Amino acid sequence: MKNGIEPKILICTECGEEFVFTVAAQQYFLERGYSEDPKRCKTCHTQYKKNQRDNNRSPQPSMAAQMEYPE
Ligand SMILES: [Zn+2]
Repeated sequence: MKNGIEPKILICTECGEEFVFTVAAQQYFLERGYSEDPKRCKTCHTQYKKNQRDNNRSPQPSMAAQMEYPE
């Protein structure tokens, strides 16, 4: 049984490509209390986090920075 969660097609704000917010990823987000859909595809998200780490002069824990995709 699925608990009413369906894969969602989202548009990445970074590269403009469609990506799938999978059921597994949605459950992962739910478990961690994230209320917003991811804004970036996994590729851009990974790059974004890398840039944040490289640029970590003023650590400001933001929602986006804390989000992790399940592997
Ligand atoms: Zn992207």
